[in-house]
Amino acid sequence: MIKRLLAGILSVFFVAAVAAQDYPSRTISVIVPFAAGGPTDTVTRLVSQAMSKSLGQTVIVENVAGAGGTIGVEKVAKSKPDGYTLLLMHIGISTSPSLYRNLRYDPVKELDPIGLVTNVPMTIISKKDFPPKDMKELVTYVKANKDKVTYANAGVGAASHLCGMLFMTNIGVDLTTVPYKGTGPAMTDLMGGQVDFMCDQTTNTTPQIKGGKVKAYAVTTAQRVKSLSDIPTAEESGLKGFEVTVWHGMWAPHGTPKAAMDKLVAALQFALKDPNVISKFAELGTEPVSQDQATPAALNAHLKSEIAKWAPIIKKAGVYAD
Ligand code: ASP
Repeated sequence: MIKRLLAGILSVFFVAAVAAQDYPSRTISVIVPFAAGGPTDTVTRLVSQAMSKSLGQTVIVENVAGAGGTIGVEKVAKSKPDGYTLLLMHIGISTSPSLYRNLRYDPVKELDPIGLVTNVPMTIISKKDFPPKDMKELVTYVKANKDKVTYANAGVGAASHLCGMLFMTNIGVDLTTVPYKGTGPAMTDLMGGQVDFMCDQTTNTTPQIKGGKVKAYAVTTAQRVKSLSDIPTAEESGLKGFEVTVWHGMWAPHGTPKAAMDKLVAALQFALKDPNVISKFAELGTEPVSQDQATPAALNAHLKSEIAKWAPIIKKAGVYAD
């Protein structure tokens, strides 16, 4: 009896070990917690395609949007840790624990880090026929029309939400915000004139800025962005101390076997050296992180320090969601 039980237990371990050795033997899904066609979607598709070359399996992107990205993150946190469901998320994973009173997951405990991916600049943009010509005029206009100006974002916890919150705190106004499931659909409405302005990542806004479909006021990085070099930084245009970049990372559910994690880390590092990823990223105003940042240790440390960094800022701004 005991012998049979032992044999049973051993065979379970054996099957698990073989499964980890064979990994990946089928399609992998990367969950993007925002709508298709937006900035996170764009970054994820480029990286996933390159990772699939290294893993020898198809890597598909699944958009699980809503509630500022928290629905998609929760889905991965509660998924089976077998290496077949992954997450690509950004800075919002570190602000949500302070923004949401009832978050149903702990990003540090329920996700295993694979590595950092990229740091994307943001741009403050408006619909084409919005009256202000530059940042100085934008601030004056927004203050004078604060009851009618609308700001689009991708929900509480999105990067566009964080940037908007910092903008409003910086200029001392509180505006009506219009939440979308991602800045992909928000951009469609901005171009259609249904909302007035937003702050969104260059990975979504570059084609529209270059195509003259929206007006750009500033980039949110300390230095100008190479691919958009005629746009001033927020600091240069008068928003003192205003700086935000959108770091991205990749995670697996907590408990994913080490053999799978090792392959995923190698595949991410491979993808971030891929010439197509590097050149597409550059066109969109960003670049891959260095190889030593594309590691579990770097992402683990970064996530913890970002949660600690944003908590007091969000508390001071007094913004909460349930
Ligand atoms: N990254 C989001 C998206 O892909 C937008 C945001 O975070 O503001 O739509």
